[in-house]
Amino acid sequence: MAHWNILCDFDGTIAIEDATDALLERYAHPDWLKLERDWREGRIGSAECMAGQVALLNASREEIDTQLAGLRIDPAFPAFVDAVNAAGVTLRVISDGLDYAIKSILRRYGLEHLPVQANHLVQTGPRSWKLETPFADAHCRVNSGHCKCSSAVRAHNKHRRVLLIGDGASDFCAATEADFVFAKHRLIEHCRHADIPHVSIVGFADAIGLLPALLAGKLHTPRRTLAAERISS
Ligand SMILES: [Mg+2]
Ligand SMILES: [Zn+2]
Repeated sequence: MAHWNILCDFDGTIAIEDATDALLERYAHPDWLKLERDWREGRIGSAECMAGQVALLNASREEIDTQLAGLRIDPAFPAFVDAVNAAGVTLRVISDGLDYAIKSILRRYGLEHLPVQANHLVQTGPRSWKLETPFADAHCRVNSGHCKCSSAVRAHNKHRRVLLIGDGASDFCAATEADFVFAKHRLIEHCRHADIPHVSIVGFADAIGLLPALLAGKLHTPRRTLAAERISS
C-alpha cells in the first residue's frame, strides 16, 4: 500500500473564509485593494503583495484575535484529520496566508497539533505588523510568499506520494508537483487544463469518502501511465 503525505491549503480549503482577507477588510488602509489588484493581474507576486498589505494593518492583537474568533472551518475537517491519523498518513497545512491566524483558528477546534507552514505575522508595535516569509524561494516561478511548489517537492521521497488538497491560485504550482489532487473551486479548472490527476471535491465530507480509495491505490494513476495512454490513443 502506498504511503502518502497530505499537503493541505488553509484559506478557502480548511477555513471557509479567507482569514487574511477578513483581517485586511476590517483593519487595513484601503490601499490593500490596490496591491490585491496588482497581484491578481500578475504585476507582483504574493510575497510582495502580502508584505505590503500586512504593513497597512492598523489593529491591536486583541482586535485581530476578535476578528479571527469569528472565522469557521469546514465542519468535516476534524473528522478528516481523524481518518488520516487512523490511516497512518501525515497531513501538513501549507498556506500562503498568516501563521498566526491559522494557528489561532485551528486551536479553537483542538487541531493545534497539525504542522503548519505559512507566512509569519510579526507584531512591530501596539497596532503595527509585518510579514516574514520563511518558506519563500528565490527561484519561485510566481514569487509567492510561501513557495508551495518547493514544499511539494520536499514532501516527496521514495516512500511517500504527495496528495494536495486546495482551492485556488496559491495551489496551482504545487498541484504540478503533487501525485494527486483533491481540488475545489478554481483549482478544479486548473487541474483539468494542465492534465493533473485530480478529483473535484466540495469539501472535506467528500475527502473522507475518497480517502479509502486513494489509500487502496484506486484513484491514483502514475503520471507516466497517463502520458503513455495519451500517446497510444
Ligand atoms: Mg486557498
Ligand atoms: Zn513557487
